[in-house]
Amino acid sequence: MANPKRKISRSKRDMRRAHWMGGQTSHNIIACDNCGEKMISHRACPSCGHYRGKSVINPQNS
Ligand SMILES: [Zn+2]
Repeated sequence: MANPKRKISRSKRDMRRAHWMGGQTSHNIIACDNCGEKMISHRACPSCGHYRGKSVINPQNS
């Protein structure tokens, strides 16, 4: 039967898992131009609703 020749060591297993989602921090978290809040790049800011210098969605308070 086709089987791996040896058991994968804890080290090798964990090296593989280091690349899984959540293993690394996201690259696309930036600070909002308008309010400075952390936000996902290329998306409207969730706290102030701004995207590329103008308001595109209404924030909660208005
Ligand atoms: Zn903002």
